[in-house]
This record gives sequence, C-alpha cells and structure tokens, in this order.
Amino acid sequence: MTDNCIFCKIAAGEIPSATLYEDQDFRVILDVAPASKGHMLILPKQHYANICEMPEELTGKAFILAKKMAGKLETTLKCDGVNIVQNNHEAAGQTVFHFHIHLIPRYADDQVGLGWKMGKLTDADRDEIVKKITEE
Ligand code: AMP
Ligand code: ZN
Repeated sequence: MTDNCIFCKIAAGEIPSATLYEDQDFRVILDVAPASKGHMLILPKQHYANICEMPEELTGKAFILAKKMAGKLETTLKCDGVNIVQNNHEAAGQTVFHFHIHLIPRYADDQVGLGWKMGKLTDADRDEIVKKITEE
C-alpha cells in the first residue's frame, strides 16, 4: 500500500467501488468515468506504478484475468468488441499511477475514440529500431 494512492485504497476495499471480481491479487471495478457501458479496470492489490515495475508473474496473471473478463463482457453485455488498454507514464495518457488494465467494451457504431493518425514506417526508423531492440 502506498499512501495517498486511490487505487491502493480501492483495491484494498477501503474506498467502496463497484466490484465485478476479486481474488487475492486483484480487484476488478467499474471505471467511474466510462468510455462505454461496462468499462472496467483491473487493479492489482499491490502497488506498482506501471507495467515496468510489475513482477512478470503478476503481469501474466493480470492479462489472463483481462482475457477472462473480456469473455464475460461479450457474454453478459453482448458487446460487439473489447479494447484492452494499458497506459504507462503521463506521455501515454496515464493519470492514476497505480498499474491498471482498462477493458472497454465496444458496440457497433459507438463513438469511443481510441484511434491514432497512421504514420509511415521509414526505412531509417525500421533499421534503427530493429537494431536497438534486437541487440539490447
Ligand atoms: P489512466 O488514464 O489509464 O490512468 O486511467 C485512469 C482511469 O481511472 C480513468 O479511466 C478514470 O476514469 C478512472 N478512475 C479514476 N478514479 C477512479 C475511481 N475513484 N473509481 C473508478 N475509476 C476511477
Ligand atoms: Zn497504489
């Protein structure tokens, strides 16, 4: 538990939340400002600021849980699709600095905006990135 972290308090049950699932490692809650009906957040009970700080085993469990909850969204809310979003650091849109995974149900013709303007992969970028990532 980290002092003054709202998601630590929610995950611990100290602040009430609309809980959809809970086990020893995670609490899954409804997002208070949903992008769509059923937008949920997977919160680990232990505090890690972002995915880089998360232990690998817990990260694996978090994404397995995301798969399960995505299936539940499809069967229960009958959504047409699900986006799984996970923001790390302010530049990526993270606003709460306690690791979390968003599950955003999608409905045909909804107005949810998660897009980006498509760029162009230049040969120089391709060569530089492949070299840096594969040779690290
Ligand atoms: P992110 O921008 O990835 O850090 O997402 C933070 C998310 O947490 C946003 O979608 C918020 O709407 C949501 N959020 C913030 N405070 C609460 C809260 N008290 N209960 C539920 N969701 C929250
Ligand atoms: Zn926390």
